[in-house]
Amino acid sequence: MGLEEYKKMRELAKSPEPEGTVKKGDGNIFVVQEHNATHLHFDLRLEIGGVLKSWAVPKEPPQEVGVKRLAIQTEDHPVEYAGFEGTIPEGMYGAGSVRIWDRGEFVPEKIDGKEMLFELRGSRLSGRYALIKTKFKRKDSWLFFKRK
Ligand code: MN
Repeated sequence: MGLEEYKKMRELAKSPEPEGTVKKGDGNIFVVQEHNATHLHFDLRLEIGGVLKSWAVPKEPPQEVGVKRLAIQTEDHPVEYAGFEGTIPEGMYGAGSVRIWDRGEFVPEKIDGKEMLFELRGSRLSGRYALIKTKFKRKDSWLFFKRK
């Protein structure tokens, strides 16, 4: 776990994105960033182990029980990224605009490599949620949904 991949994928000297470091201790934040890149998507990020574990969700995250969304796991991001909004310049990785769609407290219940159960306390996403690893499409696919 670390930020090597995050740093390798970007030219941080030329991007407004934060450089960041792995944080000590356990924080408790989540953020969803609406990312208007080549394809509009929503980046879900959960603070786990000093970084933001990240998933790209191609459609709007579920606010009601019964809606399941595909979520593709992406590289870990620094915790500082949770405050990032702005425009990543053309030609760079992730080029396009980023704005915070929701953010709040993340309360983990069960976290492992294939099942994550947690509560989100944001203004759009509020309640008990799950991320479950699935073999659908690609190896980094998960399903993201709200639980009863
Ligand atoms: Mn993105």
